[in-house]
Amino acid sequence: MRPEPHELQELVRDLHRQATPWLPAGSGSRLEWGPPVQPGPGRSAPLALSTARLDRIVEHNPGDFTVTVQTGTPLVVLQQELARHRQWLTLDWPWGTAEAPATGGGNALGAGTVGGLVARGLAGGYRQRHLGVRDQLIGIGLLRADGTAARAGGKVVKNVAGYDLMRLLCGSWGSLALITEVTLRTQPLPPQRRGLWLHGPLQQLQPLARWLLGSSLSPERIDWHRRTLPDAADAAGAEALLVSLASISPQTLEEQVACIRQQADQAGVRTEVLDPERLEAHLELGRGSSAPRPAWLLRAGVPPRRTDELLRARELDGASAVIGAGSGLGDIWGSAAQLPAYRVEALRRRCRELGGHLTVLRQPPGPAATAIPAWLDAPSRPLIETVKRQFDPKQQLARGRLPGVQPPP
Ligand SMILES: Cc1cc2nc3c(=O)[nH]c(=O)nc-3n(C[C@H](O)[C@H](O)[C@H](O)COP(=O)(O)OP(=O)(O)OC[C@H]3O[C@@H](n4cnc5c(N)ncnc54)[C@H](O)[C@@H]3O)c2cc1C
Repeated sequence: MRPEPHELQELVRDLHRQATPWLPAGSGSRLEWGPPVQPGPGRSAPLALSTARLDRIVEHNPGDFTVTVQTGTPLVVLQQELARHRQWLTLDWPWGTAEAPATGGGNALGAGTVGGLVARGLAGGYRQRHLGVRDQLIGIGLLRADGTAARAGGKVVKNVAGYDLMRLLCGSWGSLALITEVTLRTQPLPPQRRGLWLHGPLQQLQPLARWLLGSSLSPERIDWHRRTLPDAADAAGAEALLVSLASISPQTLEEQVACIRQQADQAGVRTEVLDPERLEAHLELGRGSSAPRPAWLLRAGVPPRRTDELLRARELDGASAVIGAGSGLGDIWGSAAQLPAYRVEALRRRCRELGGHLTVLRQPPGPAATAIPAWLDAPSRPLIETVKRQFDPKQQLARGRLPGVQPPP
Protein backbone atom coordinates (compact mmCIF):
# COMPACT_ATOMS: atom_id res chain seq x y z
CA MET A 1 0.00 0.00 0.00
CA ARG A 2 1.26 3.44 -0.89
CA PRO A 3 -0.92 5.90 1.01
CA GLU A 4 -0.80 9.66 0.53
CA PRO A 5 0.62 11.49 3.56
CA HIS A 6 -2.83 12.71 4.68
CA GLU A 7 -4.25 9.12 4.54
CA LEU A 8 -1.48 7.51 6.52
CA GLN A 9 -2.53 8.03 10.13
CA GLU A 10 -6.13 6.88 9.59
CA LEU A 11 -4.90 3.83 7.71
CA VAL A 12 -2.57 2.83 10.55
CA ARG A 13 -5.40 3.35 13.07
CA ASP A 14 -7.66 1.08 10.97
CA LEU A 15 -5.00 -1.62 10.79
CA HIS A 16 -4.65 -1.38 14.55
CA ARG A 17 -8.40 -1.70 15.18
CA GLN A 18 -8.41 -4.86 13.05
CA ALA A 19 -5.09 -6.08 14.56
CA THR A 20 -3.80 -6.61 11.01
CA PRO A 21 -0.08 -7.48 10.80
CA TRP A 22 1.87 -5.18 8.50
CA LEU A 23 5.39 -4.27 7.53
CA PRO A 24 6.76 -0.71 7.28
CA ALA A 25 8.49 -0.31 3.91
CA GLY A 26 10.42 2.25 1.93
CA SER A 27 11.04 1.52 -1.75
CA GLY A 28 11.07 -2.23 -1.05
CA SER A 29 14.60 -2.68 -2.37
CA ARG A 30 15.82 -4.86 0.52
CA LEU A 31 12.57 -5.65 2.25
CA GLU A 32 12.97 -9.42 2.29
CA TRP A 33 16.53 -9.41 3.65
CA GLY A 34 16.95 -10.77 7.15
CA PRO A 35 14.43 -12.98 8.95
CA PRO A 36 11.19 -13.75 7.10
CA VAL A 37 8.16 -11.77 8.22
CA GLN A 38 5.05 -13.77 9.12
CA PRO A 39 2.28 -12.68 6.74
CA GLY A 40 -0.66 -12.99 9.13
CA PRO A 41 -3.82 -15.08 8.74
CA GLY A 42 -5.13 -15.65 5.22
CA ARG A 43 -2.25 -13.88 3.45
CA SER A 44 0.63 -15.31 1.46
CA ALA A 45 2.86 -12.25 1.91
CA PRO A 46 2.97 -9.59 4.62
CA LEU A 47 1.03 -6.41 3.96
CA ALA A 48 3.71 -3.80 3.22
CA LEU A 49 2.90 -0.17 3.91
CA SER A 50 5.24 1.96 1.84
CA THR A 51 6.38 5.53 2.51
CA ALA A 52 6.91 6.05 -1.26
CA ARG A 53 4.53 9.05 -1.26
CA LEU A 54 6.17 10.68 1.76
CA ASP A 55 8.91 12.07 -0.42
CA ARG A 56 9.25 15.73 0.48
CA ILE A 57 12.40 17.50 1.60
CA VAL A 58 10.73 19.52 4.34
CA GLU A 59 13.51 21.94 5.21
CA HIS A 60 17.20 22.28 4.42
CA ASN A 61 19.10 24.75 6.55
CA PRO A 62 22.52 24.99 4.85
CA GLY A 63 23.71 27.50 7.47
CA ASP A 64 22.83 25.16 10.34
CA PHE A 65 23.98 22.03 8.47
CA THR A 66 20.67 20.25 9.06
CA VAL A 67 18.01 18.81 6.79
CA THR A 68 14.51 17.53 7.57
CA VAL A 69 12.98 15.03 5.13
CA GLN A 70 9.99 12.78 4.89
CA THR A 71 11.28 9.23 5.06
CA GLY A 72 10.11 8.07 1.63
CA THR A 73 12.60 10.50 0.05
CA PRO A 74 15.08 8.51 -2.04
CA LEU A 75 18.61 8.83 -0.67
CA VAL A 76 19.79 9.77 -4.17
CA VAL A 77 17.35 12.70 -4.34
CA LEU A 78 18.46 13.93 -0.92
CA GLN A 79 22.17 13.73 -1.78
CA GLN A 80 21.56 15.56 -5.08
CA GLU A 81 19.68 18.34 -3.30
CA LEU A 82 22.40 18.69 -0.67
CA ALA A 83 25.13 18.67 -3.35
CA ARG A 84 23.55 21.79 -4.90
CA HIS A 85 24.60 23.51 -1.67
CA ARG A 86 28.00 21.76 -1.59
CA GLN A 87 26.86 19.58 1.31
CA TRP A 88 26.23 15.87 1.81
CA LEU A 89 24.97 13.28 4.21
CA THR A 90 28.18 11.56 5.27
CA LEU A 91 27.08 8.03 4.42
CA ASP A 92 27.98 5.39 1.89
CA TRP A 93 25.61 4.12 -0.72
CA PRO A 94 24.12 0.92 0.70
CA TRP A 95 25.50 -2.48 -0.27
CA GLY A 96 24.04 -3.49 -3.64
CA THR A 97 23.89 0.07 -4.99
CA ALA A 98 26.06 -0.75 -7.93
CA GLU A 99 25.90 2.35 -10.03
CA ALA A 100 27.23 5.78 -9.28
CA PRO A 101 24.79 7.96 -7.42
CA ALA A 102 24.64 11.02 -9.65
CA THR A 103 22.53 9.19 -12.21
CA GLY A 104 20.19 7.81 -9.59
CA GLY A 105 21.76 4.38 -9.92
CA GLY A 106 20.32 2.45 -12.84
CA ASN A 107 21.13 -0.80 -11.08
CA ALA A 108 18.96 -3.57 -9.73
CA LEU A 109 18.51 -2.33 -6.18
CA GLY A 110 18.99 1.41 -5.98
CA ALA A 111 20.00 3.16 -2.81
CA GLY A 112 16.52 3.06 -1.25
CA THR A 113 14.83 5.67 0.88
CA VAL A 114 16.06 7.66 3.84
CA GLY A 115 13.58 5.77 6.06
CA GLY A 116 14.94 2.38 4.99
CA LEU A 117 18.44 3.63 5.67
CA VAL A 118 17.59 4.72 9.20
CA ALA A 119 15.46 1.63 9.92
CA ARG A 120 18.37 -0.67 9.06
CA GLY A 121 20.88 1.55 10.85
CA LEU A 122 23.88 0.16 8.94
CA ALA A 123 26.92 2.19 8.01
CA GLY A 124 29.92 1.64 5.76
CA GLY A 125 33.49 2.85 5.48
CA TYR A 126 32.81 6.56 6.04
CA ARG A 127 32.13 5.57 9.63
CA GLN A 128 35.92 5.82 10.00
CA ARG A 129 35.69 9.60 10.01
CA HIS A 130 31.99 10.44 10.20
CA LEU A 131 30.48 7.71 12.45
CA GLY A 132 27.22 5.96 11.58
CA VAL A 133 23.62 6.77 10.60
CA ARG A 134 22.57 6.99 14.24
CA ASP A 135 25.15 9.71 14.79
CA GLN A 136 23.70 11.84 11.98
CA LEU A 137 20.19 11.73 13.43
CA ILE A 138 18.98 14.82 15.24
CA GLY A 139 15.25 14.30 15.27
CA ILE A 140 12.64 11.77 14.27
CA GLY A 141 8.89 11.70 13.62
CA LEU A 142 7.00 8.43 13.83
CA LEU A 143 3.63 6.75 13.83
CA ARG A 144 3.18 4.12 16.49
CA ALA A 145 1.32 0.90 15.77
CA ASP A 146 -1.91 2.39 17.16
CA GLY A 147 -1.57 5.40 14.85
CA THR A 148 -0.34 7.82 17.54
CA ALA A 149 2.07 10.37 16.05
CA ALA A 150 5.18 11.09 18.12
CA ARG A 151 8.37 13.11 17.83
CA ALA A 152 11.77 12.79 19.45
CA GLY A 153 14.90 14.90 19.29
CA GLY A 154 14.79 18.28 17.58
CA LYS A 155 15.80 20.21 14.50
CA VAL A 156 19.07 21.67 15.71
CA VAL A 157 22.41 20.14 16.57
CA LYS A 158 22.33 20.06 20.37
CA ASN A 159 21.77 17.49 23.07
CA VAL A 160 18.16 16.80 23.88
CA ALA A 161 17.19 15.47 27.30
CA GLY A 162 14.89 12.48 27.77
CA TYR A 163 14.75 8.97 26.36
CA ASP A 164 16.78 8.48 23.22
CA LEU A 165 13.89 7.31 21.06
CA MET A 166 15.74 8.23 17.85
CA ARG A 167 18.51 5.73 18.34
CA LEU A 168 16.06 3.08 19.48
CA LEU A 169 14.30 3.39 16.13
CA CYS A 170 17.59 3.42 14.23
CA GLY A 171 18.23 -0.23 13.32
CA SER A 172 14.75 -1.36 14.47
CA TRP A 173 14.02 -3.01 11.08
CA GLY A 174 10.43 -1.72 11.03
CA SER A 175 9.60 -3.65 14.19
CA LEU A 176 8.65 -0.76 16.50
CA ALA A 177 7.01 2.04 14.47
CA LEU A 178 6.72 3.67 11.06
CA ILE A 179 9.34 6.41 10.82
CA THR A 180 7.72 9.30 8.95
CA GLU A 181 10.25 12.14 9.14
CA VAL A 182 13.88 12.58 10.14
CA THR A 183 16.18 15.52 10.75
CA LEU A 184 19.78 14.77 9.86
CA ARG A 185 23.11 16.47 10.24
CA THR A 186 24.86 17.45 6.98
CA GLN A 187 28.52 18.23 6.25
CA PRO A 188 30.36 20.28 3.63
CA LEU A 189 31.28 18.24 0.55
CA PRO A 190 35.05 17.78 0.45
CA PRO A 191 36.30 19.57 -2.68
CA GLN A 192 39.20 17.17 -3.24
CA ARG A 193 39.35 13.40 -2.90
CA ARG A 194 42.04 10.89 -3.68
CA GLY A 195 42.16 7.14 -3.19
CA LEU A 196 44.92 4.61 -2.62
CA TRP A 197 44.64 0.93 -3.45
CA LEU A 198 47.27 -0.89 -1.43
CA HIS A 199 47.71 -4.54 -2.26
CA GLY A 200 50.05 -7.29 -1.23
CA PRO A 201 50.25 -10.19 1.21
CA LEU A 202 48.06 -9.87 4.29
CA GLN A 203 50.99 -10.01 6.71
CA GLN A 204 52.54 -6.96 4.99
CA LEU A 205 49.25 -5.06 4.79
CA GLN A 206 48.36 -5.56 8.44
CA PRO A 207 51.12 -3.39 9.98
CA LEU A 208 50.37 -0.75 7.35
CA ALA A 209 46.68 -0.73 8.36
CA ARG A 210 47.69 -0.33 12.01
CA TRP A 211 50.00 2.54 11.13
CA LEU A 212 47.25 4.25 9.11
CA LEU A 213 44.77 3.93 11.97
CA GLY A 214 47.21 5.51 14.40
CA SER A 215 48.51 8.22 12.06
CA SER A 216 47.43 11.85 12.05
CA LEU A 217 46.45 11.68 8.36
CA SER A 218 42.83 10.88 9.34
CA PRO A 219 41.65 9.20 6.12
CA GLU A 220 37.91 9.27 5.46
CA ARG A 221 37.93 5.50 5.21
CA ILE A 222 40.31 2.55 5.45
CA ASP A 223 38.54 -0.54 4.16
CA TRP A 224 39.83 -4.08 3.96
CA HIS A 225 38.86 -5.60 0.60
CA ARG A 226 38.96 -9.34 0.16
CA ARG A 227 38.34 -10.82 -3.29
CA THR A 228 36.25 -7.88 -4.48
CA LEU A 229 37.92 -7.58 -7.89
CA PRO A 230 36.13 -9.63 -10.58
CA ASP A 231 39.33 -11.58 -11.32
CA ALA A 232 40.41 -11.98 -7.68
CA ALA A 233 39.22 -15.57 -7.34
CA ASP A 234 42.57 -17.08 -8.20
CA ALA A 235 44.83 -14.24 -7.11
CA ALA A 236 47.43 -15.31 -4.59
CA GLY A 237 47.12 -12.18 -2.50
CA ALA A 238 43.41 -11.41 -2.63
CA GLU A 239 43.47 -8.74 0.10
CA ALA A 240 43.85 -5.02 -0.36
CA LEU A 241 43.32 -1.83 1.57
CA LEU A 242 41.24 0.95 0.06
CA VAL A 243 42.08 4.31 1.58
CA SER A 244 40.15 7.47 0.80
CA LEU A 245 41.59 10.87 1.61
CA ALA A 246 39.69 14.17 1.50
CA SER A 247 40.88 17.71 2.00
CA ILE A 248 40.16 21.29 1.04
CA SER A 249 43.75 21.64 -0.15
CA PRO A 250 45.20 19.75 -3.17
CA GLN A 251 48.68 20.24 -1.73
CA THR A 252 47.72 18.55 1.55
CA LEU A 253 46.30 15.64 -0.40
CA GLU A 254 49.52 15.22 -2.40
CA GLU A 255 51.56 15.28 0.79
CA GLN A 256 49.33 12.66 2.39
CA VAL A 257 49.52 10.42 -0.68
CA ALA A 258 53.33 10.72 -0.71
CA CYS A 259 53.53 9.89 2.99
CA ILE A 260 51.37 6.75 2.67
CA ARG A 261 53.22 5.69 -0.44
CA GLN A 262 56.54 5.90 1.37
CA GLN A 263 55.23 3.73 4.22
CA ALA A 264 53.78 1.25 1.73
CA ASP A 265 57.09 1.02 -0.15
CA GLN A 266 58.91 0.32 3.08
CA ALA A 267 56.39 -2.41 3.92
CA GLY A 268 56.78 -3.98 0.45
CA VAL A 269 53.17 -3.19 -0.46
CA ARG A 270 52.16 -2.11 -3.98
CA THR A 271 50.33 1.22 -4.28
CA GLU A 272 47.94 2.51 -6.90
CA VAL A 273 46.83 6.13 -6.62
CA LEU A 274 43.19 6.57 -7.64
CA ASP A 275 41.62 9.73 -9.06
CA PRO A 276 38.02 10.39 -7.87
CA GLU A 277 36.54 8.39 -10.76
CA ARG A 278 38.65 5.31 -10.12
CA LEU A 279 38.12 5.68 -6.40
CA GLU A 280 34.35 5.52 -7.02
CA ALA A 281 34.87 2.40 -9.21
CA HIS A 282 36.69 0.70 -6.33
CA LEU A 283 34.00 1.77 -3.86
CA GLU A 284 31.44 0.14 -6.17
CA LEU A 285 33.38 -3.12 -5.97
CA GLY A 286 33.01 -2.89 -2.21
CA ARG A 287 29.25 -2.61 -2.69
CA GLY A 288 29.25 -5.93 -4.52
CA SER A 289 29.09 -4.59 -8.09
CA SER A 290 31.03 -7.58 -9.43
CA ALA A 291 28.54 -10.04 -7.86
CA PRO A 292 25.06 -8.53 -7.91
CA ARG A 293 22.53 -10.50 -5.87
CA PRO A 294 24.84 -13.14 -4.39
CA ALA A 295 23.26 -16.16 -2.69
CA TRP A 296 24.79 -15.14 0.64
CA LEU A 297 25.09 -11.66 2.08
CA LEU A 298 26.34 -11.47 5.65
CA ARG A 299 26.94 -8.57 7.96
CA ALA A 300 29.86 -9.15 10.31
CA GLY A 301 31.21 -7.15 13.21
CA VAL A 302 34.24 -7.86 15.39
CA PRO A 303 36.20 -5.59 17.74
CA PRO A 304 38.48 -3.53 15.45
CA ARG A 305 41.68 -4.87 17.02
CA ARG A 306 40.57 -8.40 15.99
CA THR A 307 39.81 -7.59 12.34
CA ASP A 308 43.12 -9.23 11.36
CA GLU A 309 41.97 -12.53 12.86
CA LEU A 310 38.67 -12.39 10.98
CA LEU A 311 40.48 -11.75 7.70
CA ARG A 312 42.79 -14.71 8.33
CA ALA A 313 39.91 -17.05 9.28
CA ARG A 314 39.83 -20.06 6.97
CA GLU A 315 36.00 -19.98 7.16
CA LEU A 316 36.24 -16.91 4.92
CA ASP A 317 37.91 -18.87 2.11
CA GLY A 318 36.26 -18.26 -1.25
CA ALA A 319 34.09 -15.40 0.01
CA SER A 320 34.33 -11.70 -0.82
CA ALA A 321 34.38 -9.17 1.99
CA VAL A 322 34.76 -5.50 2.81
CA ILE A 323 35.49 -4.71 6.45
CA GLY A 324 36.18 -1.28 7.94
CA ALA A 325 39.68 -1.40 9.44
CA GLY A 326 38.72 1.06 12.16
CA SER A 327 35.23 -0.25 12.94
CA GLY A 328 35.57 -4.01 12.42
CA LEU A 329 32.17 -3.89 10.67
CA GLY A 330 31.49 -5.00 7.13
CA ASP A 331 29.82 -7.20 4.56
CA ILE A 332 30.72 -10.71 3.39
CA TRP A 333 29.20 -12.27 0.31
CA GLY A 334 29.49 -15.24 -2.01
CA SER A 335 27.70 -17.83 -4.09
CA ALA A 336 26.22 -21.02 -2.62
CA ALA A 337 29.26 -22.91 -3.93
CA GLN A 338 31.76 -20.44 -2.45
CA LEU A 339 30.04 -20.39 0.93
CA PRO A 340 28.41 -23.68 1.95
CA ALA A 341 25.95 -23.27 4.82
CA TYR A 342 28.16 -25.16 7.30
CA ARG A 343 30.93 -22.63 6.64
CA VAL A 344 28.58 -19.72 7.32
CA GLU A 345 27.71 -21.33 10.65
CA ALA A 346 31.42 -21.77 11.40
CA LEU A 347 32.03 -18.15 10.44
CA ARG A 348 29.32 -17.06 12.87
CA ARG A 349 31.00 -19.10 15.61
CA ARG A 350 34.35 -17.52 14.72
CA CYS A 351 32.90 -13.99 14.89
CA ARG A 352 31.40 -14.78 18.29
CA GLU A 353 34.71 -16.17 19.57
CA LEU A 354 36.32 -12.92 18.47
CA GLY A 355 33.78 -11.00 20.53
CA GLY A 356 31.56 -10.05 17.59
CA HIS A 357 28.47 -11.15 15.71
CA LEU A 358 27.22 -12.20 12.28
CA THR A 359 23.86 -11.35 10.72
CA VAL A 360 22.56 -13.26 7.70
CA LEU A 361 20.93 -10.74 5.37
CA ARG A 362 20.44 -13.05 2.39
CA GLN A 363 20.75 -16.81 2.10
CA PRO A 364 20.04 -19.29 -0.70
CA PRO A 365 16.40 -20.34 -0.93
CA GLY A 366 15.62 -23.70 0.66
CA PRO A 367 13.42 -25.42 3.22
CA ALA A 368 12.71 -23.22 6.25
CA ALA A 369 13.90 -26.01 8.56
CA THR A 370 17.45 -25.78 7.20
CA ALA A 371 17.64 -21.97 7.11
CA ILE A 372 20.28 -20.30 9.26
CA PRO A 373 18.72 -17.82 11.73
CA ALA A 374 19.35 -14.28 10.56
CA TRP A 375 20.48 -13.36 14.06
CA LEU A 376 20.75 -14.99 17.45
CA ASP A 377 19.39 -13.85 20.79
CA ALA A 378 21.12 -10.82 22.26
CA PRO A 379 21.81 -10.87 26.01
CA SER A 380 19.25 -8.06 26.32
CA ARG A 381 16.44 -10.10 24.72
CA PRO A 382 14.02 -9.69 27.68
CA LEU A 383 14.45 -5.92 27.58
CA ILE A 384 14.00 -5.82 23.78
CA GLU A 385 10.77 -7.83 24.07
CA THR A 386 9.45 -5.50 26.77
CA VAL A 387 10.10 -2.49 24.53
CA LYS A 388 8.36 -4.28 21.64
CA ARG A 389 5.28 -4.96 23.77
CA GLN A 390 5.12 -1.29 24.76
CA PHE A 391 5.34 -0.03 21.19
CA ASP A 392 3.35 -2.74 19.47
CA PRO A 393 1.09 -4.57 21.96
CA LYS A 394 -0.81 -6.42 19.21
CA GLN A 395 2.44 -7.61 17.57
CA GLN A 396 1.40 -6.14 14.22
CA LEU A 397 4.65 -4.73 12.92
CA ALA A 398 7.21 -6.93 11.11
CA ARG A 399 5.88 -9.98 12.93
CA GLY A 400 8.70 -12.48 13.57
CA ARG A 401 11.45 -9.95 12.84
CA LEU A 402 12.81 -8.29 15.98
CA PRO A 403 16.52 -7.42 16.09
CA GLY A 404 18.20 -9.17 19.02
CA VAL A 405 15.53 -11.87 19.24
CA GLN A 406 16.27 -15.10 17.39
CA PRO A 407 13.47 -15.60 14.85
CA PRO A 408 11.17 -18.57 15.39
CA PRO A 409 12.14 -21.60 13.24
C1 LIG B 1 27.00 1.34 3.82
C2 LIG B 1 25.65 0.77 3.98
C3 LIG B 1 25.46 -0.57 3.76
C4 LIG B 1 24.21 -1.13 3.87
N1 LIG B 1 24.08 -2.42 3.63
C5 LIG B 1 22.86 -2.99 3.75
C6 LIG B 1 22.68 -4.34 3.56
O1 LIG B 1 23.63 -5.06 3.26
N2 LIG B 1 21.45 -4.87 3.72
C7 LIG B 1 20.38 -4.11 4.06
O2 LIG B 1 19.29 -4.63 4.18
N3 LIG B 1 20.52 -2.82 4.23
C8 LIG B 1 21.73 -2.25 4.10
N4 LIG B 1 21.89 -0.92 4.35
C9 LIG B 1 20.70 -0.17 4.70
C10 LIG B 1 20.04 0.28 3.43
O3 LIG B 1 20.30 1.62 3.32
C11 LIG B 1 18.60 0.02 3.47
O4 LIG B 1 18.39 -1.36 3.56
C12 LIG B 1 17.97 0.54 2.21
O5 LIG B 1 18.16 1.91 2.16
C13 LIG B 1 16.57 0.14 2.14
O6 LIG B 1 15.83 1.11 1.41
P1 LIG B 1 14.36 0.89 1.03
O7 LIG B 1 13.72 2.22 1.02
O8 LIG B 1 14.23 0.13 -0.25
O9 LIG B 1 13.80 0.07 2.26
P2 LIG B 1 12.99 -1.30 2.23
O10 LIG B 1 13.77 -2.33 1.51
O11 LIG B 1 11.61 -1.01 1.79
O12 LIG B 1 12.99 -1.62 3.79
C14 LIG B 1 14.20 -1.94 4.45
C15 LIG B 1 13.91 -2.12 5.93
O13 LIG B 1 13.58 -0.90 6.54
C16 LIG B 1 12.28 -0.94 7.13
N5 LIG B 1 11.68 0.36 6.82
C17 LIG B 1 11.71 1.02 5.62
N6 LIG B 1 11.15 2.21 5.73
C18 LIG B 1 10.75 2.35 7.01
C19 LIG B 1 10.12 3.37 7.75
N7 LIG B 1 9.78 4.52 7.17
N8 LIG B 1 9.85 3.17 9.04
C20 LIG B 1 10.20 2.01 9.66
N9 LIG B 1 10.82 1.01 9.03
C21 LIG B 1 11.09 1.17 7.72
C22 LIG B 1 11.59 -2.12 6.51
O14 LIG B 1 10.64 -2.71 7.37
C23 LIG B 1 12.76 -3.06 6.25
O15 LIG B 1 13.10 -3.76 7.41
C24 LIG B 1 23.12 -0.31 4.23
C25 LIG B 1 23.29 1.04 4.44
C26 LIG B 1 24.55 1.58 4.33
C27 LIG B 1 24.72 3.05 4.54
